[in-house]
Amino acid sequence: MKQYLNFIHGEFVATAKTFENRAPVDNRVLGLVHEAGQAEVNAAVAGARAALKGDWGRLSVVKRVDMLYAVADEINRRFDDFLQAEIADTGKPLSLASHIDIPRGAANFKVFADIIKNVPTESFQMTTPDGGTAVSYAVRSPLGVVAVVCPWNLPLLLMTWKVGPALACGNTVIVKPSEETPATATLLGEVMNAVGVPPGVYNVLHGFGPGSAGEFLTRHPGVSGITFTGETRTGEAIMAAAAKGVRPVSFELGGKNAGIVFADCDFDKAVAGITRSAFENCGQVCLGTERVYVQRPIFDQFVAALKEKAEALKVGPSEQPGVGLGPLISAEHKQKVLGYYAKAVAEGATVVTGGGVPDMPGALAEGHWVQPTIWTGLPESASVVREEVFGPCCHIAPFDTEEEAIALANATDYGLATTVWTQNLGTAHRMAAAVEVGLCWINSWFLRDLRTAFGGAKASGIGREGGVHSLEFYTELRNVMVKL
Ligand code: NAD
Repeated sequence: MKQYLNFIHGEFVATAKTFENRAPVDNRVLGLVHEAGQAEVNAAVAGARAALKGDWGRLSVVKRVDMLYAVADEINRRFDDFLQAEIADTGKPLSLASHIDIPRGAANFKVFADIIKNVPTESFQMTTPDGGTAVSYAVRSPLGVVAVVCPWNLPLLLMTWKVGPALACGNTVIVKPSEETPATATLLGEVMNAVGVPPGVYNVLHGFGPGSAGEFLTRHPGVSGITFTGETRTGEAIMAAAAKGVRPVSFELGGKNAGIVFADCDFDKAVAGITRSAFENCGQVCLGTERVYVQRPIFDQFVAALKEKAEALKVGPSEQPGVGLGPLISAEHKQKVLGYYAKAVAEGATVVTGGGVPDMPGALAEGHWVQPTIWTGLPESASVVREEVFGPCCHIAPFDTEEEAIALANATDYGLATTVWTQNLGTAHRMAAAVEVGLCWINSWFLRDLRTAFGGAKASGIGREGGVHSLEFYTELRNVMVKL
């Protein structure tokens, strides 16, 4: 049976305590994951700290950048291994993983290698009180040992989105992948060894959150900072752990994102866009649109069109041609999503489509499938309008004016993303200025330029990563003042 081992100081490490990794498509056991305890966390931190002072710390920026390019090339060379591993762990459609997850996983190393090679620092000249001159300049040094705690929805992509800039800035990292998706982080250990990244620079510890690798790692005083993507309430626990030693955090958390569709939109593009934003990755995208507001003149037409698109989505296993919707990640998550489906009905929703479990043949019947689901008719106070479901579903409500759309979009504790559909330039820019989010898409969704800032407002996160913004977290900026 396949074993998912920890990767500590360049070596794959087994432990006595294991747990099963199961496939979301049919719940079969894929292998055994070796859970890291306090001893493995201590070893990883010691190794990562030593590497900071060793070969890695002494490497020139040019050589470091070359090495990150080699990592990206090696991921691309082993593209199929990464693809199969990601698909097995998540059950997501092959078309999605091969176009987004794995290519972005590789690109994250190249983009940040390019940035670190080219980024300037500031410099100022001033007249001193005694009439002389002084020059200030800034230098960046690595933050240190960075803990990278990851979710399961886009495992390789979201992990490398943090590991790429962390390594580019000269840090060493200890990754705690989600217990649901241990494969690609482990595989990346092989890549690091193959291209000669020194031991201790990239480490992987498997396990859970509380009372396991996640908690032991984030509480460890040898960890210099914690970058985390996941649920807001997990962020609260990690922030409490980081308070000891006042260590910095960078958080990308949950969302309850609004899609706003104006009557003057390009109708077909808006329907296609909201179909993606509501159902892609089986709705397990932090940026997804679970609240859709449509201007009244096109409301009925839009609901009918989205219903048609949802019903046309082919539900099935990754490799089947034309599949648009995979399973949810786990039996537990399926129960949570179905719980919300039931709650929506109990709170008075009109079920436009879905609301249940699709019939799946043979072994697939054991998988974590749910139907894409659309509701209308709920008040803004309803559970599925307020809380993040993280499933393939959305509630659609009508609005009349721009002011009303802004108020509806902002009436949430979260503040991650909004997608706005309109052909009126004025409306688009006014909406972008008014929504309380970190990311606002106009006539698009999930379109990313990796040089731009990414992150959430309000309860959706702390800080921004992406482009030079990643440097704010992954480096310490030192000002040097020289009196001439
Ligand atoms: P989660 O918070 O349950 O788990 C994320 C990671 O944290 C896992 O590795 C888990 O083991 C670990 N963890 C849990 N408790 C911990 C603790 N007390 N201490 C240390 N580590 C702990 O999230 P999830 O269910 O894996 O992912 C889904 C969530 O992630 C959704 O809320 C989604 O919106 C969010 N998300 C946000 C973004 C973003 O960029 N804002 C991107 C993807 C996912």
